[in-house]
This record gives sequence, C-alpha cells and structure tokens, in this order.
Amino acid sequence: MGMCKGSGGIKRVYDWDSLPEEGQEPNSRMDLFKNGELVESRCFGPDGRAIHARDYRDHGNPKRHPEVPHDHRYDWSKKPPRQPWESPDYKNFPPIPNLGAN
Ligand SMILES: [Zn+2]
Repeated sequence: MGMCKGSGGIKRVYDWDSLPEEGQEPNSRMDLFKNGELVESRCFGPDGRAIHARDYRDHGNPKRHPEVPHDHRYDWSKKPPRQPWESPDYKNFPPIPNLGAN
C-alpha cells in the first residue's frame, strides 16, 4: 500500500452520493462533503484506482462501524475491492489538516 499524500492533487466534491472507485488522477485524493461536513476522504494509487478510504461517519450503522473515523482499504484482487473497516492508519494516511477531522 502506498502513502496517501494527495500529491496528484486534492479534489473537494460536495453532496455527491459517494466517491468514485477508479478513473481518477494518479496519486490524488478526493474529499466528499455533505451538508458542509467532511464525510469521506479517498486516496487513489498510481493507476487511478482507490487504495485507501477514511470514513468520518458510521454510515448510520454504529453497530457495524463502531469506530469513527475508520478506514477501508481496497484490494483489487477481490470483489468487491473495498474491504471491511479497520482502525485509522495514520502512518500511511495522515490526518487531513485544517478540517478539524482526523
Ligand atoms: Zn466505513
């Protein structure tokens, strides 16, 4: 897994239902805001496919997502590639500055 730095650019999108999983700028990051609040950041690898996501919400399902924020990794050898939640990996996906969300 690569570092999530957003070196390929950072794109903010507003009130989309969800973020795309592929076809993005290499090594970029997208931040999804809903009602003005950051709900998810997603990082894309050199091939423009998602590698790592951070959710700032529990998807309305605190039982299944007891930890907020939490991360999901993408394993493109699996279907679906989005893997179950895990504790935030701040080493490979540092907290996003200036948003008060980490
Ligand atoms: Zn999640």
